[in-house]
Amino acid sequence: MPEISVVAPVYNQRAQTLIELVRRLSLVISSITDDFDIILVDDGSENDAWSTIGAMASADPKVRGVHLSRNFGQHVAITAGLDYADGNWVVVMDADLQDRPEVIPELYAKAQQGYDVVFVNRARRPESLLYRSLAATFYLVLNALSGQDYNRLQGNFSIVCADAVRAFRRVREPGRFYGGILRWVGFRHASITAEHAAADGGQTSYNFRKRVRFATSLIVSFSTRLLYISILIGLMMAICSFIAAAIIVIEKIRYPDYPLQGWPSVMTAIFFTAGVTNVAIGFTGIYIGQILQQTRGRPLYVVAATTSGVAPIR
Ligand code: UDP
Ligand code: MG
Repeated sequence: MPEISVVAPVYNQRAQTLIELVRRLSLVISSITDDFDIILVDDGSENDAWSTIGAMASADPKVRGVHLSRNFGQHVAITAGLDYADGNWVVVMDADLQDRPEVIPELYAKAQQGYDVVFVNRARRPESLLYRSLAATFYLVLNALSGQDYNRLQGNFSIVCADAVRAFRRVREPGRFYGGILRWVGFRHASITAEHAAADGGQTSYNFRKRVRFATSLIVSFSTRLLYISILIGLMMAICSFIAAAIIVIEKIRYPDYPLQGWPSVMTAIFFTAGVTNVAIGFTGIYIGQILQQTRGRPLYVVAATTSGVAPIR
């Protein structure tokens, strides 16, 4: 059992970046221990990432590669890496050098103070103002809905003890959010703050659609409050329309000859009701979609190849 296993998901990362990552990781971690390995999970890259990983693995026994059969998404790739990671401590980080390997000694030292899970909070997010405000809004909604206090400065860069990794492996739900699952898993948590490097070549492998999809699946997986909110709105609307109906009937009885009026209010009410109903059905549908995914019981990912021929732990 190595003292430290590093897990990094790789999607379309340049060879140069991966080589640099392994070089810096090896340098930094050997100051802590010689007993470590680096697990690079190729999340179905379309470039030459897998052959780079293969070449590095045959040159250096500390490098292990897992090749997923297609792009499953960052958080599934992390899960795959954790299924293979058998270190006493597992470091999870991005492969694009935005999470700086040089922070690992500090992360490890913090864990040695008696913590099982330590996350790195980014001292600053080097993203654009638009991205930052969208992220801030998203975390506001997420925290309001989940009743948690997820920190928007927290990424996936973290160190986790073997017990927490084992617990993490048992959570197989399809809506995956690394930090959220670890929080559910429990144990003693702590965090440190460190600088986050700028994007390598300024590139992110996410597009807006992918981020929005991740954001919705995250909210749905970690809170059922949306369902309660739609029930509440529906109930309030029902009460209002009941009162309105009562008033209309009373008015009709009191003034039988009153000329017919008020179609704008009727139309408004219809549109409003239809809108609210649709939103509520939409929320419900998203949850049902998640249930459907879960009941299908498909594996979270498919492994096409590994560099060591070792089967996953689960
Ligand atoms: N990644 C992945 N699968 C994906 C998208 C990203 O494994 O579908 C990896 C990527 O290679 C990187 C990490 O997840 O190591 C973070 O991705 P990225 O840098 O694109 O995200 P950002 O830093 O912009 O949040
Ligand atoms: Mg990045």
